Amino acid sequence: MKTIYMDNNATTRVAPEVVEEMLPFFSDLYGNPSSMHAFGGNVGATLKTARERVATLLGALPEEILFTSCGTESDSTAIHAAIRANPDKRHIITTRVEHPAVKSLGEHLAQNGYRVTFVPVDRRGRLDLDFLYRNLSDDTAVVSVMWANNETGTIFPVEEIARKVKDRGIVFHSDAVQAVGKIPINMADSAIDMLSLSGHKLHAPKGIGVLYLRKGTRFAPFLVGGHQEAGRRAGTENTASIIGMGRAAQLAMAWLRDENTRVRALRDKLETELLKRVPNAMINGDPDNRLPNTTSIAFEFIEGEGILLLMDQYGICASSGSACTSGSLEPSHVLRAMGVPFTAAHGSIRYSLSIYNTEEEIDFVIDKMPSIIERLRRMSPFWQGNQSA
Ligand SMILES: *Cc1c(COP(=O)(O)O)cnc(C)c1O
Repeated sequence: MKTIYMDNNATTRVAPEVVEEMLPFFSDLYGNPSSMHAFGGNVGATLKTARERVATLLGALPEEILFTSCGTESDSTAIHAAIRANPDKRHIITTRVEHPAVKSLGEHLAQNGYRVTFVPVDRRGRLDLDFLYRNLSDDTAVVSVMWANNETGTIFPVEEIARKVKDRGIVFHSDAVQAVGKIPINMADSAIDMLSLSGHKLHAPKGIGVLYLRKGTRFAPFLVGGHQEAGRRAGTENTASIIGMGRAAQLAMAWLRDENTRVRALRDKLETELLKRVPNAMINGDPDNRLPNTTSIAFEFIEGEGILLLMDQYGICASSGSACTSGSLEPSHVLRAMGVPFTAAHGSIRYSLSIYNTEEEIDFVIDKMPSIIERLRRMSPFWQGNQSA
């Protein structure tokens, strides 16, 4: 059976172009880029190219790019750096819909002497900006707001927020893991101080991340040791993955148009047809301000886990709310923060596409979903008493 992969916000296929460029660095080109000999130094030169490629993708300077081990490390490094650079400030602002990489860190800091404000969202997942601005204070060390939400695809006005936050002299960080490659990013005319990226959401391998650090931003390293990454992140470089990330950055630029035209059209077709063919279904999130590849659809009165199991029988991969919450019966914190009713949050499925999806795959999913939903609803005690059709 063929796998139909529509779970690209969880992880993506490593592009063959990326693999090809990485392979020599697992075999012949194993030198340490810090070595004095040419054998290692040549690897160092290739890392320089990779850094330039990532910088180009972000409209940044090469020295503003730090390679890390993942998106989570970039988020943690950024927030810790900001609070250590401002040791007398004890307040942090973030949102109620962040990825656990930021949300759990916020909760952890709240238990360790920090005051943490979590900005709420409305029913469409839009941030309460007045609430955010009202809570900025002289005690605020950092504001961290994700660029786009991984569960609903909702895009947040981070540039506008960054400008307001900077006006108060406060550091602004954004988790852009889901935004990069899907919407244009240009750090050259941005007020954002720090930005997190993850390779495996961008057709590079798992285990490589990027932290963009604006020149002049006060920084305290998280990993202390050797002089790698200009002393800002010690540890011998993950050379093959960094080189893969550089290639993936180039591809992301080349594919940006396809994401926003063909992939967007496929997502729209999937969504429109499912809403037409399945009663009691609705979109979670802000349809007017969304990533081109993501749709989160609530199928009322049934369980997302059940839907995923039946989809799996056809080889269709998607996610129920959040991959991080699946396995537990708690609806995702994002849908709860939006006030999605219990009966809808439970039956929510996130389809997240990539440039590798085809129209045939979309048609197959459109064809199979209605009977999957109907089968589950026939067995659901909640559906019996609530159907409108
Ligand atoms: C996946 C993801 C992360 C975590 O990235 P890792 O590389 O898996 O640590 C952080 N933020 C968002 C929005 C994500 O989607």
